Amino acid sequence: MPASIVFFPVGNGDMTLITLADGRTILVDINIRQDADNPLTSTYDVASDLRGRLKRDMNNRPFVDVFLLSHPDKDHCTGLKKHFHLGALANYCDDHKIDNEKRIVIRELWSSPMVFRRASKNHTLCEDACAFNTEARRRVKINKENNFFSIPQGDQILIMGEDENGKTDDLNPILIKSGTTFRINNQGYDSNLECFLIAPMTKQSEELECILSKNHSSVIINFSIASNDYSDKCRFLSGGDAEVEIWELIWDKYHSTPEVLAYNILQTPHHCSWRTLSHDSWSGKGESAKESGDAVNALSQARKGAAIVASSKLIQDEDSDPPCIRAKRTYTRIVQQLSVSGKFYCTGEYPKSNNVKPLIFEIDNVGVRVANKAVIGAASIAASPNLRAG
Ligand SMILES: [Zn+2]
Repeated sequence: MPASIVFFPVGNGDMTLITLADGRTILVDINIRQDADNPLTSTYDVASDLRGRLKRDMNNRPFVDVFLLSHPDKDHCTGLKKHFHLGALANYCDDHKIDNEKRIVIRELWSSPMVFRRASKNHTLCEDACAFNTEARRRVKINKENNFFSIPQGDQILIMGEDENGKTDDLNPILIKSGTTFRINNQGYDSNLECFLIAPMTKQSEELECILSKNHSSVIINFSIASNDYSDKCRFLSGGDAEVEIWELIWDKYHSTPEVLAYNILQTPHHCSWRTLSHDSWSGKGESAKESGDAVNALSQARKGAAIVASSKLIQDEDSDPPCIRAKRTYTRIVQQLSVSGKFYCTGEYPKSNNVKPLIFEIDNVGVRVANKAVIGAASIAASPNLRAG
């Protein structure tokens, strides 16, 4: 079975499912809006689609192996309480329900340490973010009580990045430090997956702390996904809503080792926002707004045939941001340079803006390619980029 990455159409929000070659799944963020759950509207039913792609456990419960919340904003966690089981697995109470109404079990949670701090005076969390917060704390507590030993699926958690003032120092067995490689359940080896944690970065100065505590500090991971043991890995760079200051810091750290940032597939941060690429506002400065060279460099490490995906609404030629037409132009420039010859996609326009469907990439021995044959048609498949993994 090929590994795959599915980008669900969820407007300005993120919801991405990675399926590894052995069938394990990593869900990055969700934005399951009320309209999508209402059969009387034409909004694509992402929850049913997601369930259809998940395996069932021995109790016939749908599950994801990992759920990663990039940051606790509404457009990244909407629908969590409604569609996912939170709390101890012993309290799962949907076994009598029909399959499509059973809440999804999360075997392992990946959380930023920010989630413990963001419920503060200047940032209130939405209901789903609070529920995530409570669940993350429950899992951390169980891990500590059991000395991180023999933690069952359903209680597992990894914390992405160190917190300030040594607050995460006692979490070492479940703590992933930025600039390191890790795997599901913090295993030492996994032939199907390696993840490199780029951010949140460890804070060294007050200035950095100030930047990182702003709204859009997100977990940034470069996933290396194998089709099987024998092929090169597909790189998927996922950066939540991280903005220009963060990408500048990242380039500062990795400009001499840019391979760390190389990707076959990039999800444009913050729904194709101009604020990822510039300190100037698009609506205020228009065409005279300047790109940040460092941020653009950080996001330009495209491999041959790469795809850049904006998870956003339809991108229109106007002042709105996100998504921003000028950001689209920058990403298109990156992906269309001669050495890359790749393609830009937008989930709000795929395959058509008035009839969106999930955008699916498959990773096999040949490389990375757009799936969905029935949707884009055989002729388009032949013409579509065959993204060489490796
Ligand atoms: Zn967002």
